[in-house]
Amino acid sequence: MLDHRTEKTLGTLHEKVQPKFRAFMDHAQRLAAAEGLEYRAISGLRTFDEQAAIYAKGRTTPGRIVSNARPGTSYHNYGLAIDCGVFRSGKYLDSDEPKTAEAFHKKAGEIAESYGLTWGGTFKGFKDTPHFELSHGLPILTLLDKHNKGQDIL
Ligand SMILES: [Zn+2]
Repeated sequence: MLDHRTEKTLGTLHEKVQPKFRAFMDHAQRLAAAEGLEYRAISGLRTFDEQAAIYAKGRTTPGRIVSNARPGTSYHNYGLAIDCGVFRSGKYLDSDEPKTAEAFHKKAGEIAESYGLTWGGTFKGFKDTPHFELSHGLPILTLLDKHNKGQDIL
């Protein structure tokens, strides 16, 4: 049984990938529970507008730069990616105990592949350890092209 926040996040994803993310989260949550932790999907679909606002941060709007992804160049923009958080009794360990959180993301990353997911910890360059995506082997620019042509992305 997934927690409410995870359910809500998975509900924002492309319907064709939801079953695999659901199975993965179920497994990861059982692993977490065995360690007295909670593992939750905290972010899923981000619209192109939301991505534009994130990209603007530190560039044309105040704050520091938080993303290098322009609208349409993140798997989140197509409902094909989630970010997870590690919690203990509701406390967000990614900010309070980053080492504990990192260690658990790695464990989740190790099982992700068996569900067909790609773990952000395997990325070349910036390692995005809370991130999991299901790209079906489709490059992001292929998705953007389909989107721009009004085609189904999967
Ligand atoms: Zn992400």
